[in-house]
Amino acid sequence: MKISFWGAAKQVTGSMHLIELDSGYKVLLDCGLDYEQLKHFHYNPNDKFPFSVNDIDLVILSHAHIDHSGNLPNLIRQGFSGQIICTPPTAELVGNLLLDSAKIQDYEYRKNKKGKLKKPKPLYGEKDVQHTLEQLFTLHCHQLFKINNEISMEFFDVGHLLGAAAVKLTINEKNKNKTILFTGDIGRNGSELLSDAETLPEVDIIISESTYGDRMHIIKQSSEDELMSYVQSCCIDKMGKLIIPAFSVGRTQSILFTLHKLYRQGKLPEMPIYVDSPLAIKSTYIYENYIDTLNEDAKAFYQKHRFLFKFDNLKLIEGRDDLALSGGLTDRCIIVSAAGMVEGGRIQQHVSNHISSPYATILIAGYCAEGTLGHKLLQGMSSITIKGKEHLIYAQIAQTDVFSSHADKNQLFAMLSPHKNSDIYLVHGDEKNMNGLANNLKESGCKKVIMPESGQSFTY
Ligand SMILES: [Zn+2]
Repeated sequence: MKISFWGAAKQVTGSMHLIELDSGYKVLLDCGLDYEQLKHFHYNPNDKFPFSVNDIDLVILSHAHIDHSGNLPNLIRQGFSGQIICTPPTAELVGNLLLDSAKIQDYEYRKNKKGKLKKPKPLYGEKDVQHTLEQLFTLHCHQLFKINNEISMEFFDVGHLLGAAAVKLTINEKNKNKTILFTGDIGRNGSELLSDAETLPEVDIIISESTYGDRMHIIKQSSEDELMSYVQSCCIDKMGKLIIPAFSVGRTQSILFTLHKLYRQGKLPEMPIYVDSPLAIKSTYIYENYIDTLNEDAKAFYQKHRFLFKFDNLKLIEGRDDLALSGGLTDRCIIVSAAGMVEGGRIQQHVSNHISSPYATILIAGYCAEGTLGHKLLQGMSSITIKGKEHLIYAQIAQTDVFSSHADKNQLFAMLSPHKNSDIYLVHGDEKNMNGLANNLKESGCKKVIMPESGQSFTY
C-alpha cells in the first residue's frame, strides 16, 4: 500500500491523506479546505485535486471542522460517488458548517466581483452540500466495521469537538495485517463538555496532528474561575461589556456551558448574555442531541438542570436586525460571536462598536493566526483599522487558553511517546510546532518520526 500526504503537510489546514491499497482500492482520510495556500493565489488551490476523483472508493471524515471537511462538496461536484464515513454527531454538525462555508464563498465572490482583487469562484453551492450529506454513512466509536475483505475500521473518541474521532484502519495485504491510526485533531484533556481523548491503540503507523507540538497552554485556573474573573473586572467592577470572539462550533458551546454553570451558582450579575452567530445557535441544539457522548460533568449537569445551555439571561440573536440592537445597548452585557480570530462574521461589528470604550473588554478565547484581526488586536497597538475605518483602542484586550480544543505539547507527547516502534507521521502543524514535537519524540526513543512534505508518498 501507499500513503500520500496531500494536505495539512507542514501546515495546519487542508487535512487530506490518501491510502492506496495494492489492489487499487483508495481511501481518502479527510477532505478539508486549505486556507494557508488560498492566501497566496488569485485562483483557488482547493479547486483541483491532485488525484483522479473518480478513482476514490471511500472517504473517512475525522470531524466536522471545515479544515477537515470543507472540500467534500467539491469532491462530490467533481464526481466522487462513494460513501463518506463519520460518527453520527459529525454527520449532523457538518451539514451546517458546509452550508455556512458555501454561503461565505458566494458572499465573498459577489462582494469582490467588481473589485481589483477578484476572489475565486465558489467551489460549490448548496446543492453540492445536499449531495454530500446524502453520501454520509455513520458509525459510532468502537463499532468495528469491515469495509471489504482487505480493510476494516474503528473510530476512537479524541475529545476535540462533538463527534471528533481518530480512525484505526486494519489492512490485510499479502496475508499480513498492517494497522494505521489517523488521529484527526486531538482535544485538550479537561474540556468543559467532552471526555478526554482515549489512549491511542497500538498500531504500526500513526498519522498525528501536531498543532501545539511545541506550545504549552497557559492555564492557571478552571474555566469557570477564569471566565468569572473577566466578568468581575468588566461587567461588575466597570459595568461594561464583555465581548468574546469564539468559533461557532465547539468554542461557543464551551463558553455558554461555563456561563450557565456560573449562572446556576448565582455568580453572574443580572445582565443579558447574547449569542450572535446563527451557526453557533444551530450547532448548540445539536450538542443537546448527543448528551451520552459528553463527559460525566456535562451529563450530571444536564440531568439536574434539563438543559446544557438554556438559561434565563441567554439571548440568541438569529436575525441580522438584532445585531444593531446589541451594538446600541448601553448596559452591561456579554456578547459571544463568531468568528474566533475576529476575521469576518458578525464579531467585527461588535469589536468596531466597542473597541474605543474603556468599559469594554475583548476576550480572545483561543489561537489567532498571524495576519488576522484577532492577532493584530493582541499586539498592544493604540489604534486599529476595521473595514477601512480607524478606531482608537481604549477597550481592554485579553486572551485566554482555558477554552482551547487542542492538546498541547505535553499532552501530545504523553499520547505519542509510548509508541516507540510505530512509524509516526506528523501533520496539521507549522514547522516550529512539528519540529519541537518530533525532537522530543525522537529523544524519548521513538524510532521513526517523519514530517512529510505535501505530495510525498510512502510505500509499505
Ligand atoms: Zn478541528
